[in-house]
This record gives sequence, C-alpha cells and structure tokens, in this order.
Amino acid sequence: MTDLFTPLDLGHTTLKNRFLMGSMHTGLEEAKDGFHKMAEFYAQRARGGVGLIVTGGIAPNLQGRLSPFGTQLSFPWQVKKHKKVTKAVHENGSKICLQILHAGRYGYHPLIVSASNTKAPISPFKARKITKLEIKKTIFDFANTARLAQKAGYDGVEIMGSEGYFLNQFLAPKTNLRKDEYGGSFENRSRIVQEVIQAIRKKVGEKFIIIYRLSMIDLIKDGQSLEEVITLAKSLKDLGVDIINTGIGWHEARIPTIATMVPRAAFVFISQQIKKEVSIPVITTNRINNGDDAKKIVSEGIADMVSMARPFLADPDLVAKIEQNRDSEINTCIACNQACLDHIFKNKICSCLVNPKACHETEFKNSKTSSKNILVLGAGPAGLAFSIEAASLGHRVTIVEKNTEIGGQFNLAKVIPGKEEFHETIRYFETMIKKYEIDLKLNTPITIEDLKPLGQFGQGYDEYVFSTGVVPRVPQIKGIENKKVLTYPEAIRNPDQVGKRVAIIGAGGIGFDTAEILLHSQSTDSVQEFFDHWGIDSLYKERGAIKSKVKPSPKREIFLLQRKTSKHGAGLGKTTGWIHRQSLKDHEVQMLGGVKYKEINDQGLVIDHENQEKLLEVDNIILCSGQYSDNKLYSDSKSVLKKRTHLIGGAKLAQEIDAKRAIDEGVRLAHSL
Ligand code: NAP
Ligand code: SF4
Repeated sequence: MTDLFTPLDLGHTTLKNRFLMGSMHTGLEEAKDGFHKMAEFYAQRARGGVGLIVTGGIAPNLQGRLSPFGTQLSFPWQVKKHKKVTKAVHENGSKICLQILHAGRYGYHPLIVSASNTKAPISPFKARKITKLEIKKTIFDFANTARLAQKAGYDGVEIMGSEGYFLNQFLAPKTNLRKDEYGGSFENRSRIVQEVIQAIRKKVGEKFIIIYRLSMIDLIKDGQSLEEVITLAKSLKDLGVDIINTGIGWHEARIPTIATMVPRAAFVFISQQIKKEVSIPVITTNRINNGDDAKKIVSEGIADMVSMARPFLADPDLVAKIEQNRDSEINTCIACNQACLDHIFKNKICSCLVNPKACHETEFKNSKTSSKNILVLGAGPAGLAFSIEAASLGHRVTIVEKNTEIGGQFNLAKVIPGKEEFHETIRYFETMIKKYEIDLKLNTPITIEDLKPLGQFGQGYDEYVFSTGVVPRVPQIKGIENKKVLTYPEAIRNPDQVGKRVAIIGAGGIGFDTAEILLHSQSTDSVQEFFDHWGIDSLYKERGAIKSKVKPSPKREIFLLQRKTSKHGAGLGKTTGWIHRQSLKDHEVQMLGGVKYKEINDQGLVIDHENQEKLLEVDNIILCSGQYSDNKLYSDSKSVLKKRTHLIGGAKLAQEIDAKRAIDEGVRLAHSL
C-alpha cells in the first residue's frame, strides 16, 4: 500500500516521500543577505525530511513582479545567489523547485498587465491589456526563467497557474475579455498556459520537474467551470507536466481558504476529483497541518502527495516527527496567519507565531549552553515558550503556575469556534514539558513571602522569569458592579450562563472572539456548514464553484461596542480581520462605534450613540475592554531576589499583548541567558 514514505517515481527522477513544502513568499527573497538566510531556512526543512520544496514565487519579468522591488529571475548574473539555496537543500537530502509566478493584475506597481484592462480589488493599480507581441515575449520569459533555474541547480519549476494570478486571469472569463486567439473559447483562454508549458519543456529538456499549479476552484463569479478545469488537467501530461498541484480560490475571493476557521482538509475533495481524470500525480493542499490527515490522503488514494506550507514554518522537523511516530511533538501550525502572511502584507520578514525562529534561523544558535537553574512564574504562552526553549538548550527549568492547567489565555482561545487549533499548541507544550523533564508545579500560587527565602545568600535559582500574564480591565462605568456584567473569561468559560441579548464592551480581538462563541450553538462547524456559510459549491454547478450563502441562525442578539469611530476590528490581522468582520455581519451582530458608556442598570446598558442616549435592553454586558499587566510580584521581587529577574509577555506589556510577541519574547530570552 502507498503511504507517505513511499517514494514517488516521476520517470526521470524520484521523490523520497509524499511531502511537498508548498510555496511561500518569505520576504528574504528581497532582503539584504536574504539568500544566505533563505538557504538556512530551507536547509533546516530539508534536514527535517521533506521530499520536495517549492520556493516562493519568482517573477519571469518586470511586468510580472508582485511589487516594484519584487524578486525576479531573468538574467544569468542572478543564478549565483540561487545556487546557495539549491546547494543547501541538496546537501541535506531534499529536492527543490523554483516557482515561476507572474502576478498579472495582482501586481502592486504601475507596469502590471493582464489578459484585459481590468483592476483587481486587491491592487490599487489598473492592469493594461497585454498585447499579442508581449504575450510571445512573456512566454519566452517563463522559459528563460526555467532555464536559469535549471542552471542554478533547481530540480524543477512550479508554474503558478492559480490563486488568480496572470495565467489564471487568462483562464477565467471574468478577467479575459479578449477577442483574439487568447480569449473567447476555453481553447483560446487556455492557449497561453499550453504555450508556456511547452516553451519551458522545450528549453529544459526531459529531466527536469515541471509542476503545474492548477486552479481547481476559482471561488469567484465567472471563474472556470469544472469541465474546463478537467479539460486543462487532462491536457497537462502531454504538454510536459510531471505533477499537478492544487490551487484553491483567487486571492480576491471573499471566501476563507486557509485561515484557521477553514475546517481541516476541507478542499481535498476537488484534488480527488481531478486525480480521477488524470494519469500524472496530483498534490492536494489547504489546511492540512497534521500527520493523520496526510496519511489518510495518501493511503486512501485521495491524492499522491500532500502539500503543506505554513506547517513547515511552525515546525521544520514535521516530516521526521511523523515518520518516527512522534506526532505529539509537532509544533502545529494554528493557521492564524499572524506572523506569516500578515507580515508579508506589511513588508516584514515572514515568521511564525508558534515558532519565531522561522525565517530567522541564522539569528539563533541551537547549541547547548551552560546549565542554569531557572524558575519560571506563570505557564502561559510566554512562560511556556521560554521554558521549552531554555530546557532544550540545557537549562534546568521549574515552572510554577497558580492555575490547575497550563496555557494561560490560550485556554480561552481554544474554545472559540474556529480556533480549535490552539488545543494543539497546548498539547505541544505539554509534550515538550515532559520531554525536557521540566519541573511543572500546577496549583501553586506564589507570593512575595515565598520568594524572600530564595533571595538569601546561597539560596534559590540563577534566573527568575516572570510571565504572570494579564488581568481583564474593568472600565469605570456607573453600575459596573451590576450582576449583568461579566468579564470575558467568565463569558467564554461559561457561555451557557449568558442571556439571549448581549452587549460586548470592546471590539478588539477578544470582543470578536467572545461574539463568535456566543453566536454558535456548537464549537465545530462541519465542512458542509462551512461551505454553506461561505457559498462554496462542492457540486460545482456554476462557474467558480460558488453558490448563494446560507444565512446562519445566530444563537443570540449581540451589540459589539467601541468608543472609537474607526472600523470594528481594525487592529485584527490583514488576512483574517475581514473574515471575522464578515462572519459577525452574517450573524447580524450590530457593530456600534463612537459610543460613550453612560450607565449599567437592571434594564441594560445606557449609551450615547450618534448624539442620542439609547438603552440597549440586554441580559448581559461583557467586558472585553483590554487587560492590565499582572506584574506586581515582579516589581516586589526585584529588591528581594537581588538576582537576575526577567519580565516577559503580557506581564511586561498588556497593551496590544498578543501571543506572537509573548512567544517571541520567551524564545529570545532563552537564547540570551
Ligand atoms: P484590544 O485589541 O486592545 O481591544 C480592547 C478593546 O477595549 C478596544 O476595542 C477598546 O476600544 C476597548 N477599551 C479599551 N479600554 C477601554 C475602557 N477603559 N473602557 C471601555 N472600552 C475600552 O484588546 P483585546 O481585544 O483584549 O485583545 C488582546 C490582544 O489579543 C490584542 O493584541 C489582540 O489583537 C489579540 N487577539 C487577537 C485576536 C485575533 O486576531 N483574532 C483574537 C483575540 C485576541 P475603544 O477604546 O474604542 O472603546
Ligand atoms: Fe501557522 Fe500562524 Fe505560524 Fe503562520 S504564524 S505558520 S499561520 S502558526
């Protein structure tokens, strides 16, 4: 039986297993000394056992760049820096393909071209219709990039034909309004794809991998039909393609395809359908982040390979851990996008919320240091990240936690519908605590009196790390002591005690999360519920596989309030904020901004809104109004311990505390001791 570790024979070469590290732009492509850093980034994943890696998208020409200074491979002098990457990957036993990505109308610069004169909703620039002469030149440029990739030592190329980029823009009637031989019928719309593949194959010869990333469902109006996708898929082998990779949804589609609320492996059905139509290997993708799903996909013949991208940011040793049945040690990607995609959109180097070393490998020496005795106070994300990293470096760590479980604020996040992946991070922390023999003392509140004896000469620990977290902010509103008022931990832990009409004070991430848990009757939506909510048609009756959204039935009537007049959730991540806002709108949450809180009484919450005093007749008022740092113990202990004390996470700075900063601070502190 085929399993994840059955080699895949492509005729001219063999892949050692069925794992693909999918294409991700890291920001290192354009950074100073970026190729050196990228070489180490990919080398670690190769050491971790992945069979095949695909680089981030590289443009074949200037017009096709993603941004004005975006990366491009068109000239022989550029080959040398790529060799650093291919050498590092090959030395560590893996193979690597370069992705050729022409952005088309998704480019963020004035030179962009597309099948027609159209403007994408996600770029401020309008694309110019590419001329026939330029099409010929572009086809040459694709082939030229492939040849240079071959010279640089890549094992092949992936042609980006999905996610709404240039080639996909020719394939879909939505963006291809041409009347010449590159527009109109599907044969014409797909002509450029055929010519690109043929030109590449001609240039690189037979012994070079060509992957075609096929948009299997566009998830936009006037996208491709299923029949067209199948027709193209069937033609790919004869054109010279070795492997078909799956593409899901255009970037402009207002449908989540990879964020954490997308059920795991939700889209593999379409790869399975295409696989039945073709004789070359098919790779499936999107929201696959664990060994069990990957095993099932390959062993049941749903697809021949599994592509994971972000999971390799979270854990470079993912494949080795699956192979050695050490799945519980996997630092699982929670699909939050906070440090990967959201960074890229802010022109920052990509990283990972649960693994801040990702794309920063050269900044960390993983060698063991001198062994110190360290006491960590608080087992939230910051304290745990510190403890595990410090213990892995050879320190002896004791954690004291006043609660009966580890995880801190993650224990609230994990019960929010669509955020169940946080369970995995807590599971990872638990496994690593045992693996590194960290002494964990739960149910152990510490006071300054406990610390005093440790401050005496010859007593105590070498270092003290205070990761004591946060406490919810209780705003000063008349009547705040009313029994209708609940803090967000109280509401999230016991949603059943919350009434049918609710006002939420504060519309940050936690206000949104609290609304979500109160709107749903169960914690996990099924794939079908998810598809119905977002209008995805798995039966593919219409072009683009979209259908009318099914209106959800909200469990409660909710007012989400803030004093600011800006958009609700403006501080949420670029790639996920719109999903949270849309979800609450679909559930008829009333979002009121520019609110002044006047009074809470037995009738509800009195506010000033749009120059009127209004009574919101609600059963409960939930405080999601931020947090304070819980750092008194740290302040008091400094004079007592007279030793090295450190403050990290929410205890250091509650404002804009998030798990990304907390974990980053923990890991970096461990390396600094
Ligand atoms: P936050 O984002 O700072 O939001 C706090 C909210 O409380 C704001 O909407 C603020 O709005 C309001 N507020 C502040 N002081 C107030 C006062 N004295 N009286 C009344 N309202 C007040 O904090 P959070 O929601 O607690 O989230 C904490 C951290 O976790 C943030 O970094 C957040 O990004 C992160 N997080 C993110 C997500 C996500 O990305 N999905 C989910 C959960 C948590 P006004 O000042 O306008 O009233
Ligand atoms: Fe996954 Fe979040 Fe890390 Fe991105 S930042 S790789 S989504 S865990």
